[in-house]
Amino acid sequence: MPQTDTSAPVIKDQSDFYWESLSGGRLVFQYCLSCGEKRFPFRMSCSRCGSFEHAIEQSAGTGVVVSHTRVEKPLIGTFTKPYHVVLVELDEGVRMLGILQGTAPAPLIGKRVVASFNSESPSPLCFIPDGQSDAS
Ligand SMILES: [Zn+2]
Repeated sequence: MPQTDTSAPVIKDQSDFYWESLSGGRLVFQYCLSCGEKRFPFRMSCSRCGSFEHAIEQSAGTGVVVSHTRVEKPLIGTFTKPYHVVLVELDEGVRMLGILQGTAPAPLIGKRVVASFNSESPSPLCFIPDGQSDAS
C-alpha cells in the first residue's frame, strides 16, 4: 500500500503573494482593472474579459459560511481532528476556504464569520464564528 504524503502543500508560483499576505495577517484577492471582476484564487488573466491587468485588493475578512465539511481523518499530519473546513463568501464577493476555529454553531451555513490569522494553527487562514472572540 502506498504511503500518504502528510506534509503541508508547497507554496509557489502565482499564489506566492497570497500566502505572503496571509502570513502578514492580510487577506487579499485580485481585482480586474478592465472589467472590475473580483477573483480568487489568483489567475494570470480575467475569466470574464480575458484581461491580464489586475490589482490586489484587501478583504475586511468578514463573510458568511456557504458550505462546510467536517474532517474526521486529517490528510495533513499537523491538523488535529476532527475539524471543519468552511467555504466562506466574503463580503467583497469572493469565496475562500479556511478552517473553522471555535465552536461550530448549528446550523453553520449562513453564519457570519471573521478571518483569523493564528500562527499556531496548521492552516494560515481560519475563520471564527462572529461573536466568539476568545476561540482557540
Ligand atoms: Zn476582467
